[in-house]
Amino acid sequence: MNIIFYLFIFIIGTLFGSFLTLATYRIPLHKDITHEHSFCPKCNHKLSFFDLIPIFSYLFLKGKCRYCKKKISPRYFFFELLTGLSFVLIALSLEFNIYNITINKIIEFSIFAIYIVFLLLVAGIDLKNKKIEKSTLIFGTTILCINIMYQYISATMDGTIYNLNRIILYLVFTIILLIVNIESIRKTKKFDYCIDILILTIIISLFTYEITTVLSIAGCLLIIGIRSLINKIYNKGKNKKERNNNTMPIAFYLISSHFIILITSYLYSLNLL
Ligand SMILES: [Zn+2]
Repeated sequence: MNIIFYLFIFIIGTLFGSFLTLATYRIPLHKDITHEHSFCPKCNHKLSFFDLIPIFSYLFLKGKCRYCKKKISPRYFFFELLTGLSFVLIALSLEFNIYNITINKIIEFSIFAIYIVFLLLVAGIDLKNKKIEKSTLIFGTTILCINIMYQYISATMDGTIYNLNRIILYLVFTIILLIVNIESIRKTKKFDYCIDILILTIIISLFTYEITTVLSIAGCLLIIGIRSLINKIYNKGKNKKERNNNTMPIAFYLISSHFIILITSYLYSLNLL
């Protein structure tokens, strides 16, 4: 029975993954993400219901558009698979299964699942466009507020004062975060990657434990370091025109590192490492 439950969670995840690929494509173009029908970006043909089944439609169509036969980026397939697997991992780590479906578990699962969707959205857009969309950060901050409210309510119910102090501190952080967020939108339309990375880091740190954040940042710095070294070696003896573009998708690196840390700490908690 539990396998069916996890399969169901996996399918929900792939549906979110499918929505994510669409959102990472449309949000930077400021296109509607909910009402407009899905279409092939190469031939503009509207996609039928069967073309939209996550994972399977990609496999059945062998990675090609049904109408123009042009190659579909494997990004779609990987995104769907990754989101599906993430959802299953969240359910497993929260010990959410068929035998303990309680309101609390459902809320905890939903909040964390949406947090993962947020991270994948930011990472996807950053990888493709090397920028963070303000709207996605507002989305992330909103989930963060909901999470803090939930933590606050459950801490009050349990009477755990220890958590309460931490939550109040987080609340202050979040208010600062919101002010910075709104200010940066109001003052300048110019995108400010550094501030966006900072906001992303604060969201991550308030959502997970301090140690997870520190390790994620360390991992990200390591990736940046390695990438810089590779760039240096690659660019040696080349003139300015031949050098490859050094812009790095830092948010993508940070989120990738964060995912690795989250999965590692989960495996560690199971004594598998
Ligand atoms: Zn097509």
